[in-house]
Amino acid sequence: MSVGTELHAARRLVVKVGSSSVSGDNAAQIPTLVSSLARLHSAGVEVILVSSGAIATGVPFLNLEQRPDDLATQQAAAAVGQNILVNRYQRALGSHEIIAGQVLLTAHDMENPTHRGNAKRALERLLQLGILPIINENDTVATHEIRFGDNDRLAALVARLVGADRLVLLSDVDALYTAPPATAGAKRIAHVPYGDRLEGIEIGEARSGWGTGGAATKVEAARLAAEAGTTVLLTETRLFSRVLDGEDHGTRFDGAPQAV
Ligand code: GLU
Repeated sequence: MSVGTELHAARRLVVKVGSSSVSGDNAAQIPTLVSSLARLHSAGVEVILVSSGAIATGVPFLNLEQRPDDLATQQAAAAVGQNILVNRYQRALGSHEIIAGQVLLTAHDMENPTHRGNAKRALERLLQLGILPIINENDTVATHEIRFGDNDRLAALVARLVGADRLVLLSDVDALYTAPPATAGAKRIAHVPYGDRLEGIEIGEARSGWGTGGAATKVEAARLAAEAGTTVLLTETRLFSRVLDGEDHGTRFDGAPQAV
């Protein structure tokens, strides 16, 4: 069965997209990404989107030439950009008659039992109502992603919270490779069986474009979700619709056998 077929058959899916895929010139990718989400939504899959990109989206609206270095201005850019980003998503979702619900969370919320319970109740209700939740880190009170590029981890924690059977981590890298992709002989790792520690594989910490997460944070997040039984696909944002068509791209991590 192709990963695309598996995704159409998912019960509950979390899709995480990185900043560089949805900001700057790549903001033009939002309608395509949203069409893929709409395809799954209309196939009956409960879809949650975790999107970064608030800072990168906000920067031009603050008349800044580049990403600011100080935390306060980064937070200000996130506050402005989050509004515009969700607006862009809603505009694209509107043409599929889907309504988005914005949810701002922190990794800490996922650890605090009261906050965890509150977030779970809200997400469950949104999904029951047919709403597509769009989650980002709550950057005015938490700066974990700004500092560590870790919406990948937040996405994995959300997948665990809602018992998602599938997690897709989209970025500007198409897959994991046996060595840095520019190296001669580097091969795509198509499949990571559960528990495979990827011994001998060099996992890059590289930070590209606007995003702050490297391959290492993705592998960690994939493992965190896989432990709870979630199957994870790591691939490039622009390849997502082709994966749904049945093409073979990316790296698939099996979830722990005691399924969700
Ligand atoms: N959550 C922030 C955002 O969506 C942080 C991402 C970053 O540090 O680039 O923009």
